[in-house]
Amino acid sequence: MGSRRKFIEKLSITTLGLPLLTSPVNLFSASCDSYEGPILKVAIMGLGSYGTRVAEAMVSCTRAKLVGLISGTPAKVEKWKAKYAIPEKNCYNYGNFDAIKDNPDIDAVYIITPNGLHKDQCLRVAKAGKHVISEKPMGINALEGQAMVDACKAANVKLLIGYRMHFEPKTVSVIQMRIDGEFGQPKFFQGQSGFTIGDPTQWRLKKELSGGGAMMDIGIYSINGARYMLGEEPIWVTAQETKTDPEKFKEGIDETIQFQMGFPSGAVASCLSTYAMNNLDRFFMTGTDGFVEMQPSTGYGPIEGRTHKGPLTQAHVTHQTLQMDGMAALIFDGKQPIVPVDGEEGVKDMKIIDAIFLAAKTGVKVEL
Ligand code: NDP
Repeated sequence: MGSRRKFIEKLSITTLGLPLLTSPVNLFSASCDSYEGPILKVAIMGLGSYGTRVAEAMVSCTRAKLVGLISGTPAKVEKWKAKYAIPEKNCYNYGNFDAIKDNPDIDAVYIITPNGLHKDQCLRVAKAGKHVISEKPMGINALEGQAMVDACKAANVKLLIGYRMHFEPKTVSVIQMRIDGEFGQPKFFQGQSGFTIGDPTQWRLKKELSGGGAMMDIGIYSINGARYMLGEEPIWVTAQETKTDPEKFKEGIDETIQFQMGFPSGAVASCLSTYAMNNLDRFFMTGTDGFVEMQPSTGYGPIEGRTHKGPLTQAHVTHQTLQMDGMAALIFDGKQPIVPVDGEEGVKDMKIIDAIFLAAKTGVKVEL
């Protein structure tokens, strides 16, 4: 292990010509045959589009492995079992997955189902004594998020949220620059997060399954991004909603929301969250001494961007591979990423989303 670490440090500093900006968890992300430590054995719950992406990315993980499935669709289970060599005894459905408590081959369950199901599924996984990784948004409001945090604490298991950007090398380097004071005092963040959503019958447009519209799904990236780019927690929000298609975006499903956040230092953020415009994936932050702009800023990558010092040059690595190796390092070694990915971090975003919805509805400035 020692010689591998030395090799990677040397590689980071000399061969790549870069300072060691990667957080320690990233040291474990490169595929390495000689790794002999513990492997995080993961079951994925919800074999949908993002679950598929995570499963494929985990094939390249060093410290995490897909070993189990929880699904309501037997045909998918058959396909995945064959593709990932998963034994029948590690396959469950939504009715029987509590039995996972008796399965020592599974350490953690990664919940990748519709948002409105995360809370109850999390509580059941925690009760079964397994670590929980929940996709974002962790639930559909802060109350649910807090219930998830409390349940995992009571069960003495970890609760982690799928904030893959917290492991992404360019993002990590920018956060490190901000911590090192290279932007001076951060003053302003602009986040644009959106895409044009298709099929009007999908769960993302059904309030009970999604908890909301674009804000829950994609606007959350601008909220989370504002917090990690500025390095502060907002103390107020204002928000304005526009809806051009009330048939598609029914009551409780936001189409477009512009929102603003104020921070204790006096820094401000101005953001756009939408399901009605394409190609919105952009962050900009300026401080007293420098700036950063990233576009794309949160897509699957490669992330692109530059600061007042020049382009961001860190190599692209599949986000979900880094994330899952990083989460294994967190669970086994307590190694924290540069910005937390725990349940409390998820609740912070949920509280802001609750406040944005209230501000959009009432037109008032909501204090946090
Ligand atoms: P999909 O619709 O593609 O997949 C969701 C899966 O959940 C389904 O395929 C199904 O799997 C399962 N499921 C269980 N109950 C239901 C239900 N009532 N209705 C629909 N599906 C159900 O969604 P995504 O994979 O795109 O999103 C899942 C989660 O991942 C969301 O919370 C989303 O916000 C998050 N996400 C995160 C991303 C990121 O970059 N971090 C990117 C995309 C999504 P099965 O048939 O196996 O039961």
